[in-house]
Amino acid sequence: MIYTKSSFYVGVIAVVLLMSNFINSSKNEANDTRINPLIHSQADSLDYFADNGFGKPVQSIQHPMGEYFKGVTYVAYQGPHEDPYVCSYNHQTKEWKGPFKAGISALGKTPLSTDPDEIDNHGRPALLVDGEGYIHLIFGGHGGHRGLGANTLGTMGRGEQMHVVSKSPYDISEWEQLRNVSPLGTYSQWVKMSNGTIYLFYRHGSHRSNWVYQKSTDNARTFAAPVSILKYKKAEGHAFTSDSWYAWFQEGANNSIVSTFNYHLCGTGENHTSLRLNSYYMKMNTETDTWESIMGKKLDMPLTKESADELVQIYDSKGKSVRLGTIRSDSKGNPHLYFRNNANISYANWESDKWNFNEVLGQKFKFEEADILIANTNEIRFLTSSIMNNTAEIAWWQADENGKNWTKETPLVTSKNGKYVMSSLIRNAHPDARVIVAEIPNTPMAVDSKMYLIGDHGPVKRFGF
Ligand code: ZN
Repeated sequence: MIYTKSSFYVGVIAVVLLMSNFINSSKNEANDTRINPLIHSQADSLDYFADNGFGKPVQSIQHPMGEYFKGVTYVAYQGPHEDPYVCSYNHQTKEWKGPFKAGISALGKTPLSTDPDEIDNHGRPALLVDGEGYIHLIFGGHGGHRGLGANTLGTMGRGEQMHVVSKSPYDISEWEQLRNVSPLGTYSQWVKMSNGTIYLFYRHGSHRSNWVYQKSTDNARTFAAPVSILKYKKAEGHAFTSDSWYAWFQEGANNSIVSTFNYHLCGTGENHTSLRLNSYYMKMNTETDTWESIMGKKLDMPLTKESADELVQIYDSKGKSVRLGTIRSDSKGNPHLYFRNNANISYANWESDKWNFNEVLGQKFKFEEADILIANTNEIRFLTSSIMNNTAEIAWWQADENGKNWTKETPLVTSKNGKYVMSSLIRNAHPDARVIVAEIPNTPMAVDSKMYLIGDHGPVKRFGF
């Protein structure tokens, strides 16, 4: 680049403006919705679409974090102070919009956004585009702080589950809050059915709380009261210990919702660990809002630990650690799911009358996150974030023979500078934009990360503004 005198002065002015902007944003950051744009020139072509990912900006349990709707992919992530940020990408014009701050989270405000010990990460946004094109986010909840009143379905936690919606359809620049769901939720998950009915699933409080859903038939403008489906209670045979759950929900075939979940024996004080056990599966018929086992046995809700073990447990981990994965249903209604099983990744699928279990990644891969894509009943693909030989990568794994053998494809993106965390698959995804990924730098105490939108051809580029 050749510097001229005028370009030098433009540069100086730009730096001064940026500095004053920085000072202002430090002062008013908490309630200012203006965002500094990425600093790059018109000629740049960036692999990332934003550089203000914060903490662990994306994960699969708050989901979906993105949706493809009428030619545009909308994505959300956790930004500075754990506030929710939104960008959009038009696949035809290749134009990016955002990031826009869509609301102010009750989490992540004290004392400093740069202190990793204070990062809660529970308030990550889940995104939904309703039938009229309005964009919705749910975010900021970790069970609800005590100022929100009593929790009749569990115990209080932190933060506040908040629901915001774009002021106009297809426009992510302005947002307003809707106070129409319980503020006591965490692990918020949207399930938008093909018929337009919207279910919001979440845990209604901290560990010792029921999992519930709220249902809307008017594009998330009003919701029915929470309905409990997984019950917390005193654990049988354990003093001062409770039954607790982690769950994941997704639309299945034929107007159903499928769920995979695992169990947490929630101890008190020094007896508390993060250990989670076993794997379970159940299905909801949304025509009757009733739940059943894989064998079609009706379930009494909310489900207790004893009933879950008897009727819907698919894997007994025998006291060993299991971590929740995701679930998808194929066109015949057969579920496919995965879970972390110690160091391995177990893939389970239902075939005729039994569950098949197979391992996906070999031991040489350090696993971070994954989701399952079912292109049709014969093609099962697994999009993973993992680390091998100190190189982080996002890659597809392809199954043959019902998941007995898995082959890794050429990675879509790799990094030696950081690790990748990824969202679940974007809803209704365009093949060019399957997943949202944050690259968390390897540097100690790093809290800011670059955000990528990655599809079958690698990252979606962002050109100059
Ligand atoms: Zn617990």
